Amino acid sequence: MHALKRLGFSFSTIKDHDPLQNEVLITFDDGYSSIKTYAAPILEEVGGVATVFAISDYVGLKNSWDYFPEDKQVDHMSWSDLRELHNLGWEIGSHGRSHRRLINMNIQSIMDELVTSRKQIEDQMGSQVTTFCPPFNAWNSDLLVMIEDAGYTRIAISYPLSGLPKWKGEFIPRLGVYLHDALPLFLAKIMAGPLAPLEVLQQQLINLVGDGNILENWLKQPAK
Ligand SMILES: [Zn+2]
Repeated sequence: MHALKRLGFSFSTIKDHDPLQNEVLITFDDGYSSIKTYAAPILEEVGGVATVFAISDYVGLKNSWDYFPEDKQVDHMSWSDLRELHNLGWEIGSHGRSHRRLINMNIQSIMDELVTSRKQIEDQMGSQVTTFCPPFNAWNSDLLVMIEDAGYTRIAISYPLSGLPKWKGEFIPRLGVYLHDALPLFLAKIMAGPLAPLEVLQQQLINLVGDGNILENWLKQPAK
C-alpha cells in the first residue's frame, strides 16, 4: 500500500470511485476479522479505504460455509466491526447470505440470497448497498438480471472479461492478489494491466478449486 501511494495512487471504495483520479480499489471478499485486524490499520496509514463483501448470515460467526476442518475455521467480522469500517468510509457490499454458488439454485432462493443480504447489511449500516459480489465468481446473464431486480447497480467480477453480456449495471473487474504475490509481482499486476495470461489462468483455477462443493462432488464420483 505504501509502494502504491509512493507511485501516486490513492485508495477508494467502489461506490465512491472517481474515474478521473488515479485510484486503486481494494476489495475483500467474505469479511474476515483479519481485514479489520491487519488490513484496516495499513490502509489507515496511507489514508485509504476499501470495499468488503460481507456474507450476511455469517457476520460474527466462523466460516463453517468453507471446507476447512473445524479447528482451522476463522472468524468473520461482527456487525459492529463492519460498522466501524463503514464509519471510516469503507463500503460494505454483499456477497450473499450464505456463500452459495448462485447459478445452480432455484430463482426463489437466489432472490432471497440477493435481497435479504442487501437488506440485512443496509439495516445494520444505515446506508444503501449497491455492489454485489457473486460467491466463487459464479455468474451468468440470468443472474445479472436478478442482481438488478434485487436492487444492485454494480457487480464485482474477476478477469477474464471476454464476452461480457449487455447489462444496465456496471461491471467492476477484479484481479486477485494472493499470499504468494511478492511485492514486484503485486506491483506488476497493477502497473502492467490484468490481462497477463498466466495470471488469468491462475485466477480461474483458484476460483474453481475454491469451491469445495465442486471438489467434493468430483471426489464422490464413482470411478469409471
Ligand atoms: Zn467468497
